[in-house]
Amino acid sequence: MNRRGLCLVLAAPSGAGKTSLSRALLANDGFISLSISATTRAPREGEQDGVHYYFKTPEAFAAMIANGEFLEHANVFGRAYGTPRAPVEAALAAGRDILFDIDWQGYRQLRAALPDDVMGVFIRTPSLDDLRIRLISRGDDDATIARRMAEAETELAHQSEFDFIIENKDFDVALTDLRAIRRACRLMTSRVVTGQ
Ligand code: GDP
Ligand code: ADP
Ligand code: 5GP
Repeated sequence: MNRRGLCLVLAAPSGAGKTSLSRALLANDGFISLSISATTRAPREGEQDGVHYYFKTPEAFAAMIANGEFLEHANVFGRAYGTPRAPVEAALAAGRDILFDIDWQGYRQLRAALPDDVMGVFIRTPSLDDLRIRLISRGDDDATIARRMAEAETELAHQSEFDFIIENKDFDVALTDLRAIRRACRLMTSRVVTGQ
């Protein structure tokens, strides 16, 4: 049975476990990959062009917008970020799923661009106190923790726009939930391309 691939967007307040859950979902699975965004921000230590991001000058980024090469783009913290269209369309047609780490503005635009292909999953901790404990245990400094706790309120205000909410209390339960969501979405009648 041929199925069209799925765009899975994960969003979370920083520290809720998005990176850990994405990593576990992507590990040893050839049928799901992470979407590589383009950005005008400078590479951080260890980041490689074409692996973590496609690093672009503002002029090159603007040309990509003008040529319609983005499915969505947004300004985040004063820098431009965008999702290149071609790799996503190729993966979906080949039945491969794509995981997105984009902000809530990107999620809204992506849904509008691909209304039948996008599922949004919001990841959160049981409480804000739990979030703070995670940030402390990860080793974030006090100023970073204060900023992330304030940003968490904004993220949480958008959670109702997502199709699913996962509470990341026990990690293995949260991962099982995420896999179950993906599997059920893949099995939706609307995703079947051919078959009997
Ligand atoms: P799990 O529940 O996350 O372990 O994964 P599943 O049981 O949903 O699928 C097992 C593997 O097969 C995973 O790597 C999926 O990505 C892949 N897979 C499942 N269904 C399909 C399909 O219809 N087409 C393709 N190409 N891969 C699939
Ligand atoms: P994010 O990518 O959302 O910022 P991380 O994946 O970096 O979050 O997780 C934040 C911290 O919490 C990390 O130190 C991670 O190991 C830890 N963590 C993730 N999930 C759990 C969990 N279910 N229980 C306890 N700690 C967790
Ligand atoms: P960072 O610069 O730390 O890698 O990412 C900063 C922010 O930009 C994160 O909130 C991330 O989700 C968001 N982001 C990364 N890529 C994209 C993208 O292609 N589109 C949108 N809209 N946001 C993105």
